[in-house]
Amino acid sequence: MIQSWGYAAPQAKEPLAPFSFQRRDPGPHDIVIEIQYCGVCHSDLHQVRDEWGGGSIFPMVPGHEIVGTVIKTGSAVKKFKDGDRAGVGCMVNSCGHCVNCEAGEEQFCQKGAIWTYNARDNGEQTFGGYSNNMVVQESFALNISPKLDLAAAAPLLCAGITTYSPLRHWKIGPGMKVGVVGLGGLGHMALKLAHSFGAHVVQFTTSKNKEADALRLGADEVVLSNDREQMKKHRNSFDFILDTVSAKHDLGALLNLIKLNGTMTLVGLPDQPAELPARGLIGGRRRLSGSSIGGIRETQEMLDYCAEHSIVSDIELIPIAKINEAYVRMLKSDVKYRFVIDLATLPKP
Ligand code: NAP
Ligand code: ZN
Repeated sequence: MIQSWGYAAPQAKEPLAPFSFQRRDPGPHDIVIEIQYCGVCHSDLHQVRDEWGGGSIFPMVPGHEIVGTVIKTGSAVKKFKDGDRAGVGCMVNSCGHCVNCEAGEEQFCQKGAIWTYNARDNGEQTFGGYSNNMVVQESFALNISPKLDLAAAAPLLCAGITTYSPLRHWKIGPGMKVGVVGLGGLGHMALKLAHSFGAHVVQFTTSKNKEADALRLGADEVVLSNDREQMKKHRNSFDFILDTVSAKHDLGALLNLIKLNGTMTLVGLPDQPAELPARGLIGGRRRLSGSSIGGIRETQEMLDYCAEHSIVSDIELIPIAKINEAYVRMLKSDVKYRFVIDLATLPKP
């Protein structure tokens, strides 16, 4: 076994603290990554607080926006050599044989994708990226271009792919009016990507103090979603809205802004179920859909796209000792626009 250490939540809602654990010895298809940076996703917070009802597994080492350097490769590894950059996102395994895995949509594996943490892989508990190292099969690891700033690329592994995938699925491009709801980790990546795909992008936010940033990040317009007059002006006008909000909010008010046959996709996963006013869908033959991260092939495509177009996350780099403080700020929507942990600050036990 490989000795690992990181920060873990000992129990639901408890603060994260230093924690030592073991990872499996690398097999022929595995690589070992020395983790340099790990992004902080709101999903980490939901799971540490056990808000999704599934019964989180503790002690939990969160983190699924992992980047670092390959320090060991198994004998059958082809995609990586020692010293290469590598990334790991939300998944580390899937059945590999079902129709969805065959289609490269491992996140929808019919037997259930194996998540990077808060899961079990062949009976062994998985531990995430708030830690010094990672053992992962190469087929679930991503190549990261040297063109990308490594720390700012970490959030691409979840926030990047989670917004890239639905924007591609719904063929977002020039001539389309696209709304992004919530300017947090996912939202700011959605904004950058939709802008880069050539759409007219309207950023919705509840935080007046984020208006100027939204414009700087690529928004053509900014709407304060709690201002009814501002919302009214956009009725029946959107081709597509991507909703990244992490807490329960009014979906009907957003559906009313979509034009005939338009679509709203949810990627935000609040702890409470949404209320859905049927009128908002019926009037305008609107569609409501969802999306979960993206497959490995599409994640690599997104990373290569971002390298080519110089797209990374706007980050606030934090030492790991500040993780609990970062969670408190995230709950207050005080994130500009992704916390990334510098694992060089992780103390050796
Ligand atoms: P985040 O950085 O905390 O951003 C969420 C944003 O939502 C906030 O910054 C805020 O933006 C807005 N917001 C928060 N509370 C709100 C409320 N009560 N009403 C309206 N707006 C509110 O979170 P994130 O990391 O981007 O994650 C967002 C959600 O996506 C989480 O639920 C997460 O679990 C989920 N997620 C899903 C997937 C997937 O595969 N589908 C992947 C990753 C994450 P403003 O300040 O601009 O209003
Ligand atoms: Zn995430």
